[in-house]
Amino acid sequence: MNKNDLMLIYGSDERAMTEALLTHMNIEAMIGNKDARIALKPNLVVAVRPESGATTHPGILVAIIEHLQKRGYHNISIVESAWVGDSTKEGFRVNGYPEISKKYQVPLIDVKDDEYVKKTVDGITMEVSKTILETDFLINLPVLKGHCQTAMTCALKNMKGCLSDRSKRLFHTLGLHRPIAALNKVRAADLIIVDSLNGDLDFEEGGNPVETNRMFACTDSVLCDSYGASLMGFELRDVPYIGLAEQLGVGSSDLGKANLIQLNEPSEEEPYRPTGRANYLGKHTEANSACSACYGNLIHALKRLDEVSRLKQVKQPICIGQGFKGVHDPGKVGVGICTRGLGKSLPGCPPKALDMIRFIKELND
Ligand code: SF4
Repeated sequence: MNKNDLMLIYGSDERAMTEALLTHMNIEAMIGNKDARIALKPNLVVAVRPESGATTHPGILVAIIEHLQKRGYHNISIVESAWVGDSTKEGFRVNGYPEISKKYQVPLIDVKDDEYVKKTVDGITMEVSKTILETDFLINLPVLKGHCQTAMTCALKNMKGCLSDRSKRLFHTLGLHRPIAALNKVRAADLIIVDSLNGDLDFEEGGNPVETNRMFACTDSVLCDSYGASLMGFELRDVPYIGLAEQLGVGSSDLGKANLIQLNEPSEEEPYRPTGRANYLGKHTEANSACSACYGNLIHALKRLDEVSRLKQVKQPICIGQGFKGVHDPGKVGVGICTRGLGKSLPGCPPKALDMIRFIKELND
């Protein structure tokens, strides 16, 4: 897998999707040495199940462990710490990690109990997990979701779970963006596999999941977050740590140079299932057999418009879904290739939330 590759897959079976990603990227060639110390870094910021939109689906870790162990890799561990005030071990328990650990003989490392090494970048001194620093191949498994302070969280911010609680507090004091970039200069992941199945609309701790039924993988944490931001409808300037990490040489945010490798198409067999508070946004849509990846992007786009008080200016419902294939209605507007017969339509399958925002703004200007 090359540095500018972004590998994307749609579906709802995270184990099968992970296996497909690992096979296509040829992870064996990326890791090399069978004795390599491999760490899996999920997101267990709080002790809740992935259905909440906050935490990594455990099936992703199981698929990686099985894939690697079948190929002779034996030195794998799961490394994580919950946010300050929450118990990592409870997060492990709620998500079935002790059973995974026992079945596959993979140790669980709670970073809160780990030794730390002090590292300084950009004038910021932080205590980083010794286990993470001694890891040969770090696989970051973030959830793409909203965040109340940094707009979104994905690969770069998920590395915060590799810090002591004292350093996490310091990061908040410093406003998060500069320190997150600096941390990734100390140690960025070698591979990122993003759980974007149902990440939360706007909060790190979940409770408001938006089904998008997709996962994507890449090796550049900056590119990964730049892509994630576009899927959620954020401009790069909305998430300053991405640009700051790029300035420190962590990676490239240039999606124009990214090589998107799409392993399958979104399917109406994965229809959007409305959940939680996000549904108030749905009243601005006219959906007919919409794939969840498409509808989820539209929900994120509408949320971004709501945040800047532009939602109330949306004059007519935005059509979306495979049910609009072959429909010719000049009076309606829609997003996605399925709606191309309508009066105005945004191409793409699915279009990114960022493009949807621009399209909807133009419609209503
Ligand atoms: S454009 Fe149509 S087929 Fe493509 S993701 Fe959207 S609803 Fe599905």
